[in-house]
Amino acid sequence: MRLSRYFLPVLKENPSEAQIVSHRLMLRAGMIKQSSAGIYSWLPLGFKVLRKIENIVHEEQQRAGHMPMLMPTIQSADLWRESGRYDDYGEEMLRMKDRHGRDMLFTPTAEEMITDIFRVHVGSYKDLPLTMYQIQWKFRDEVRPRFGVMRGREFYMKDGYNFDLTKEDALHAYNRHLVSYLRTYERMGLQAIPMRADSGPIGGDDTHEFLVLADTGESEVFYDSAVTDLTFGDRDIDYDNVEQCAGVMQEFTTKYARTDETHDEALFNEVPEERRKTARGIEVGQIFYFGTKYSDAMKATVQGPDGKPVPVHMGSHGIGVSRLLGAIIEASHDENGIIWPEGVTPYHCGIVNLKQGDEEADTACEALYKSITALGLEPLYDDRKERAGGKFATMDLIGLPWRITVGPRGLKNGVVELTSRRTGESEEMNPDAAVAKIAEIYANH
Ligand code: ATP
Ligand code: MG
Repeated sequence: MRLSRYFLPVLKENPSEAQIVSHRLMLRAGMIKQSSAGIYSWLPLGFKVLRKIENIVHEEQQRAGHMPMLMPTIQSADLWRESGRYDDYGEEMLRMKDRHGRDMLFTPTAEEMITDIFRVHVGSYKDLPLTMYQIQWKFRDEVRPRFGVMRGREFYMKDGYNFDLTKEDALHAYNRHLVSYLRTYERMGLQAIPMRADSGPIGGDDTHEFLVLADTGESEVFYDSAVTDLTFGDRDIDYDNVEQCAGVMQEFTTKYARTDETHDEALFNEVPEERRKTARGIEVGQIFYFGTKYSDAMKATVQGPDGKPVPVHMGSHGIGVSRLLGAIIEASHDENGIIWPEGVTPYHCGIVNLKQGDEEADTACEALYKSITALGLEPLYDDRKERAGGKFATMDLIGLPWRITVGPRGLKNGVVELTSRRTGESEEMNPDAAVAKIAEIYANH
């Protein structure tokens, strides 16, 4: 992509409405534009990152054997009356009437819809286990939409639902989700710690939230600092392997880590004092096992091995796809702007031409652009006739992790400069070496 043709409405001034750094930087980098409270347009740069995050979620869900599907955003109130949540949800639910006066709503989550699909189409225990998910827009009329995409009213969420014959099977589904979420967040360059949480209006017995530690987080959390030493890495997981998934689950959840809703002071005090930490966290996902709550209410049964109808055991699992942009920026930025982890960066590297119009510099930039594109990567080429300082400031603000700087002086010596956004360190090398280095960096992303 050439910056001269890109729609990147960067702001020079700090927008006064933004209270936290991720919101400020997303507005300044031209990623989003608010249309009304908690509702945003996703401009090209923001949309690109949203898609990257979404793709990682899709890949990891499907790696775990979960099937993608899509349910409507506008739903009839009838299903929600059956589960009792049409009343329970209260003012967070956006309600409307169609032209025939029928009650409709914009879906805040989709347990009812998926349970209806299940009860109509699945009749036998032989069709289990089954896990389906979608990545779809949700609407919750939050009392206080704030912090940009972190607490929106319209937001993008992955929601998945498992159906199992027995509690044991459903607990395996729970563990499998926990494991696949660990991997999902790490691919985005994030440490998201599973913490025992409260189930809220979804209901249920077992639930963990995934929290990214950040001062601007809305949740207060209590944890044993040993949990921050755990990394998932590139483990080879067989998601059908019950013991293996349970093992990883144990490893990541036995140490104390809880949100304030479930915090237990006495238990916490058993953690050695120097490891006892209190911090703030951003909830980027949650998994639930809720047994037969919805299948009982909505009569979702299958025929069991003995021919008798049994209600299915269910769980649901969410990832805040749009919130993740804010969480990643909160965890990775400096005073000059965003620093995207390689896994989610909108463009893999920037190319900055220090002297646009200089024949040699232009030719060298074009050649770099071609070679990097040929690797299957996407460079963002700043080909505008602007001074170098302005170009650097834009690149720093939008946070591409790598920048190649090309100027007539370096080219006289046959070199360009490769700079890391994270460390600020630069290295001179010939253009081919720079391309090879970029290829190497992204070989695993
Ligand atoms: P919260 O406690 O932050 O209101 P929740 O527990 O009600 O969230 P879930 O129903 O668990 O949310 O939804 C799954 C995920 O969707 C959450 O973990 C969060 O990352 C994201 N999410 C929830 N509400 C919002 C929102 N208003 N704006 C953006 N993302 C949200
Ligand atoms: Mg939650």
